[in-house]
Amino acid sequence: MCTILCCGSEESVLTDNPHSIDSIRGAGPIAADAEIGLLKSIPSLGNQDSSGMVHPGIQQQLLESADRDADIVILGSGPAGYVGAIRAAQLGARVVIIEKESVGGTCLNVGCIPTKALLACVAVADAVKSGEEFGVKVDKYELDIAAMMSRKNSIVKRLVGGVESLFAKNKIRLVRGFGRITDPHTVTVDAQAGAETIRAGKIIIATGSSSALLKAPGFEIGENVWTSTEALSFESVPKSLLIIGAGAIGLEAAYTLSRLGCETLVVEMKPQILPAADTETANELAKALKKAGIKFMLDATVVGAEDIDGGKRVRIKSGDKEEVRDFEKILVAIGRKPATEGIGLDEVGIKHDRGRILVDEYMRTNVPDIYAAGDCIGEPMLAHVGWTECIAAVEHSLGMDSKMDYSAIPACVYTTPECASVGLTEQQARERYKEVRVGKFTFRHNGKAMAIGGLDGFIKIITEPGYGEILGVHMVGPHVTDLITEAVVAIRNELTVDELIASIHPHPTLAEVVQEAAYDALGRAIHK
Ligand code: FAD
Repeated sequence: MCTILCCGSEESVLTDNPHSIDSIRGAGPIAADAEIGLLKSIPSLGNQDSSGMVHPGIQQQLLESADRDADIVILGSGPAGYVGAIRAAQLGARVVIIEKESVGGTCLNVGCIPTKALLACVAVADAVKSGEEFGVKVDKYELDIAAMMSRKNSIVKRLVGGVESLFAKNKIRLVRGFGRITDPHTVTVDAQAGAETIRAGKIIIATGSSSALLKAPGFEIGENVWTSTEALSFESVPKSLLIIGAGAIGLEAAYTLSRLGCETLVVEMKPQILPAADTETANELAKALKKAGIKFMLDATVVGAEDIDGGKRVRIKSGDKEEVRDFEKILVAIGRKPATEGIGLDEVGIKHDRGRILVDEYMRTNVPDIYAAGDCIGEPMLAHVGWTECIAAVEHSLGMDSKMDYSAIPACVYTTPECASVGLTEQQARERYKEVRVGKFTFRHNGKAMAIGGLDGFIKIITEPGYGEILGVHMVGPHVTDLITEAVVAIRNELTVDELIASIHPHPTLAEVVQEAAYDALGRAIHK
């Protein structure tokens, strides 16, 4: 995470987006609705433009805050805040970043990274189990949960340390403590080293989110009821686990624990897993996960829980039927909510919707000189979205014309097989364009997939019928969380299916499936 990103946009020319105080991202994963697909940007070169000139707006902004403690103060050092802080420092700003817990936020400490570290352990165990198929016989192996946790913890520690050194390298001042905005240019920190008041030219709120909880009795977080955080630091594998919610977080936890030997049931109130995803793609993933041992109840709701010896007795309602089942643990994975309590929103008059800070496309709140980015402004709550927003916020706050572009946001699930999507789902595309062309190719017919033993899944490309512009790409299969980037570039740059086909894909690779799906959209798949 700390070696990422160099994609800030210095100059932006955008469509005539209305400049309203609300988040375009609130429109859901496919905010292409907002007609914001035409952002063109010049690559950022520190605080210079492509001709080597220092951006005049930046000099003016820095001059205006010269008598304050900082040019920019950022609340929260998650992926939004820490990347924004580095970008601000690159632009020559004096930056203070405030963090109440561990640097790196949810993503590094209890989110993206530790989940993938545990999934990697599971993948190794799976490889060992299927060794014989590859001619590698392993007589005996055992799972060492403590060693898995310790590997995960050391990866987190390395990354957190990496971000702290980036702060030092970029001369960013890290203040540890809880920050609260007391006026439009002042943040007070209840710091471990005593209270501190910081006056800054601009304030950026990047306080992130926390797990949404179930309010009903019996679901209080504790020994037998987990959030995603507890599901990342267990000492032994529970015998049985009920997961409430089949979003990415619930599914990754389900995959990890069930492959470690836990009997896992996922209950989802919507009729498909990953409710916002393309239905055919979500169903393909569900099929593969069932094969891997995970059980699902869709269109079902958990309506009550009580303590029993060694776990929880749970009532699950599905249609007219209600059933009672016992589990050792419950994981509540029903989503996340913005973490903005106590930071001074109402005191300073910052508009919000039940804690979700409202911003425009420049990431400005309604209070001049205060911006917000990342999970605290709502869905889609993803690390890469958060840091892109914070770069836009920083650049705009320092006088550049940067805006946030939601036209091509990839969403990934790191189970086996993986799942990844960008752009419109087939349902959305049909609603908008009436007629669409859909190309699909399975991994089963790809040489590289056969070689590595990753046969489940497909890649599906949705195009509009006129020019063949690519509207959405949905993938289930091996390494698709890496393959999706090709589709992001295609959609972001309004490429057509012909242009994708004309780009030579190396052989043998999984990426050939992308090209074959593109051919298939034109009825010309070669290997079908
Ligand atoms: P956060 O990462 O939540 O960081 C906010 C920081 O602000 C925290 O460190 C917090 O302590 C600090 N803070 C809050 N209030 C204050 C205050 N008043 N003063 C000082 N500090 C404060 N996203 C992906 O893109 N890919 C994934 O694979 C992925 N996997 C995930 C798995 C799990 C289990 C979870 C829970 C999340 C996952 N996410 C993933 C989501 C991702 O972690 C978040 O979208 C991302 O961390 C949001 O970044 P942020 O900077 O907005 O907020």
